[in-house]
Amino acid sequence: MTLPGKKCVSCGRLTHDYTEFECPACGKNRIIRCYHCRKITNVFACDECNFSGP
Ligand SMILES: [Zn+2]
Ligand SMILES: [Zn+2]
Repeated sequence: MTLPGKKCVSCGRLTHDYTEFECPACGKNRIIRCYHCRKITNVFACDECNFSGP
C-alpha cells in the first residue's frame, strides 16, 4: 500500500515525510510541511487567513 502523500505548503512538493498541524492563527486550516522545509525552517502561509510564520 502506498500512501497518497500530501502537498507541502512551503515548497509545494508532494511529500510523505511531513508534519501536519492546524494553523496557529485561525485553527481552521491544516498546514502541511515536509521534512526538508521543517529542517530549513521555511515559512508557511495559511490559505484561510494568510497567516505566515516559520
Ligand atoms: Zn516543503
Ligand atoms: Zn489560518
